[in-house]
Amino acid sequence: MLPFERPDRRKPDDLRIVSIEPGIAPNASGSVIVRFGHTQVICAATLENKVPGWMQKQGIGGGWLTAEYSMLPYSTHERKQRDSSRGKVDGRTIEIQRLIGRALRAVTDLSKLPGQTLWVDCDVLQADGGTRTASITGAYVAARLAIEKAIQNKQLAENPFTDSIAAVSVGVYEDQEVLDLNYEEDSGASVDANVVMTGSGRFVEVQGSGEEATFSEEQLHTLLDLAKRGLGELKAIQENAIGKGKNLA
Ligand code: UDP
Repeated sequence: MLPFERPDRRKPDDLRIVSIEPGIAPNASGSVIVRFGHTQVICAATLENKVPGWMQKQGIGGGWLTAEYSMLPYSTHERKQRDSSRGKVDGRTIEIQRLIGRALRAVTDLSKLPGQTLWVDCDVLQADGGTRTASITGAYVAARLAIEKAIQNKQLAENPFTDSIAAVSVGVYEDQEVLDLNYEEDSGASVDANVVMTGSGRFVEVQGSGEEATFSEEQLHTLLDLAKRGLGELKAIQENAIGKGKNLA
């Protein structure tokens, strides 16, 4: 049998080359471009001085945080038609944007965003697997930078984030558990999972499934260990980007 090799020669527990570059969209309160190998996502956060109508109607205090996700038409190998031209949003997009919003709200004290909505927009520039996990990882940095700016501008009294949040994919590719799958691995994987975790090591979401396959409890533990290892590295990259972004302001 040939020795196991990943398509891009990474070791099973290697992330792709990850970078988070702040200040990419100057009109947003906070923005980054996050790269996981060839996957690139622009994440921008904007604070708005109003809350959604349903919160007003129900008299719910505090603020809100929500996310939107889209893939730019040229982000995929085959051109992906814009939702505005198709006249509808696909199920995958809705699922992903709800996941991003949920992930960020898990570490947000909404009472510290009184009467305000933090919008987080994630637009995929290049898709090569793991766009939702890259979006969550970049969105947290963009959101933190927006909050820092709002505190400086006295638009906000304090930081509503209670912890950091990041996400990574793991899976079983050619019978081997691997971290951070690219498109080629993702499309050939028998098990595919997305793990969302706080900086202090608590899970927010674990989405895992076998694709015409099953997996053992032992494999699940191996996958979670791989994810935790990757998430530790991502936390350090996020902290570095937040420091860099604050200096740009
Ligand atoms: N993909 C694509 N067109 C689509 C949806 C997905 O080309 O309409 C590709 C893209 O490279 C994406 C990958 O398939 O990153 C895996 O998609 P999935 O739905 O698993 O989400 P992701 O891994 O990006 O979070």
